[in-house]
Amino acid sequence: MFNVVLSTHLLNTNPEKSDNQVYICHCEDVKVDEILKAIGDRKFISVDELKHITRLGMGPCRGKRCILRIKQLMRGYGIEVTGDATPRGPMANQINMGELHSKKVHEHIITPERKVIKANAVVAGGGIAGSSLFRYLAEAGMKPFLVNDEYGGSWRNIAAGRPAFSLPALAEIAAQNLQLFKELHAISDIDFTLIRYVNFVHDEATYKSLDASKAWSDAYMVEAKDFRKEISPEFNLHCKTYSHALITNNCWHATPGKTIDVLRKIGTQNGGTILEKAKVIDVEKTGKEYRVIVLNRQGEYVEYHTEVFINALGAKAANFAQKVGIETGLFPVKHQAFITRRMPLLGKNGAPLDMLIDRRKYRGFSAVYGQQLAETGQIIGCASPAIDPLETDKNLKTNSQDFMEIISEVFSDWIPKFSGVGLQALWSGYYVEPRYIVDPELGLFIGMRGHGFMLSQYIAKLYVDALKGKAVPDYFHHLKLSGPGLSEMAFK
Ligand SMILES: Cc1cc2nc3c(=O)[nH]c(=O)nc-3n(C[C@H](O)[C@H](O)[C@H](O)COP(=O)(O)OP(=O)(O)OC[C@H]3O[C@@H](n4cnc5c(N)ncnc54)[C@H](O)[C@@H]3O)c2cc1C
Repeated sequence: MFNVVLSTHLLNTNPEKSDNQVYICHCEDVKVDEILKAIGDRKFISVDELKHITRLGMGPCRGKRCILRIKQLMRGYGIEVTGDATPRGPMANQINMGELHSKKVHEHIITPERKVIKANAVVAGGGIAGSSLFRYLAEAGMKPFLVNDEYGGSWRNIAAGRPAFSLPALAEIAAQNLQLFKELHAISDIDFTLIRYVNFVHDEATYKSLDASKAWSDAYMVEAKDFRKEISPEFNLHCKTYSHALITNNCWHATPGKTIDVLRKIGTQNGGTILEKAKVIDVEKTGKEYRVIVLNRQGEYVEYHTEVFINALGAKAANFAQKVGIETGLFPVKHQAFITRRMPLLGKNGAPLDMLIDRRKYRGFSAVYGQQLAETGQIIGCASPAIDPLETDKNLKTNSQDFMEIISEVFSDWIPKFSGVGLQALWSGYYVEPRYIVDPELGLFIGMRGHGFMLSQYIAKLYVDALKGKAVPDYFHHLKLSGPGLSEMAFK
C-alpha cells in the first residue's frame, strides 16, 4: 500500500500534490517532510550530507533503495541531490557480533515460553548410535528421552558388517556386534544374513596386505581362475583386472530400518520415550546440568534439564558439540550409493552374491563395493571417495556422473549381466570422519566413520556400562576425545 502511494507520487513529481508524510527511507523511518526541512532553501545537497543530517541511507540497506528515490523525488522540487553513498560492508549480509571473534559466546535462543522437563537422560540423534544408547539406557532403568529429527547415515547405508579388523580391539567390538545382531534377529526379524566379503587383488601391494589379514580373520585366498566356482557362476570370464580375491567368512547384513526399530522398541518397553520429528535446537551446560531446547512435532519448544546428555547427532554432531565448548575436529563426508531392480540370486551355490570389493584408487574413488540382498535379490552398492575432504558436507540431493560411471564400469566388469539391470535408485548419505569419539564424560557418541552400522550397538552397551560405573575394557577409554582413538589402518 505504502509503496503504491510512493511510486504514484514519484511518477507525478509535482510538489503541490505530494504527501510529505510519506516515508522515503524505510530502514531508518525518514519522511519526505524531514528531508525537505533539512534541505531548507538550498538548491543542491550531497548524499553524504543528507545522510549525516537525516540518517537517510544509514540503515541495513545502506541507501540502496532510498538514495535512488530521493534523487528522483527532489528533482520535482528543483533540488539536485549530488554524489552517491560510500559503500559500506557488510551491506545487506547479516553478520552477528561475536561471529568473527575467536572466543565463542553462546547464542541466546529466543522462543515462546518453554515448558521445562527434568530428565534422567537425553539422547540427541536417533540413528544406530543413538537408538542403541536409548535401548541400553532404558534397560539400565534410566528412562531416557530419544530426540530425533529426519534420517541420517543409519538409514542411508548399505548395512554390512565384518569381524575382520587388523586392530584386535576393533575385531573384538565387531565380533560382539555380530552376536548382538544375531540376538536382535531372534527377537524380531531384521533380515539378518551371514555373508562373505570378497576383496579383489589388483596389484602386489594389495595381495600382500590382504594375505597378511588372514592372520586376524577367517579368510582364504582364491585365484582368478576359480572366481566362477568361488564367487559367482556368472563372474566375467574375460575380466583381467584381478589376479586373486580374499574371501572372508562370518560377515553379515541386516536391514537398517528394521534394526533401529527393534532397538527403539526395546527402549520404549523398558521405560524410554521417543520424540520423533523433534529437533534439538540448542544445548547449553551450566555446572553439571545440560539444558536442551527441543522443538517438538507439535511445534512447541520444550526445555529438557538433565545431567546425562549424549550427542549422537551424526553429521550434525560437531556443531552441537561446539555449543558446549567442545571442538571435535569431525567432518561429514558425502558417500554415494545405489540399488538395482530385483535379480535372481547370483552367488555361490545359488546364495545371494557376497559383498564384492574393488580397492583400486581409480577415477576419484578408493573403493567400489556392493552385495545382493537376500530378501529381494537387489544389488546394493557404494563407491568411496578417494579424498574425503573433497566431499565434505556436499549436497546430498544429487549423485555425480563420475559415481554412476564407475559403478557401471566396475559392476559390469564383474558380472556382465549387470549391464542389463535397471538402477532403481541412487542416493547419498554422510559418514563422519576422521575418527570415532565415544566419551561418556563429554557426552559424545559420534564420528562412527563408515563403520557405524556394524559397530555401534556394542559400543553403546559399553557406554552405558561406563556411565553406571561398571568395568569396561581398557580399549573403550581409547575412544575418548583425549584418547588415541581406535583407527583401522589396514582396510578403511
Ligand atoms: C552410503 C553409505 C554406506 C554406508 N555403509 C555402511 C556399511 O555397510 N556398514 C557400516 O557399518 N556403516 C556404513 N556406513 C556408515 C554408517 O551409516 C554410519 O557410520 C552410521 O549410520 C552413523 O550412525 P549415527 O547414529 O552416528 O549417525 P546418524 O545415522 O546420522 O544419526 C544421527 C541422527 O540425528 C539426527 N539429527 C541431526 N540433527 C538433529 C537435530 N538437530 N535434532 C534431532 N535430530 C537430529 C539425524 O537426522 C539422524 O537421524 C555407510 C554410510 C553411508 C552414507
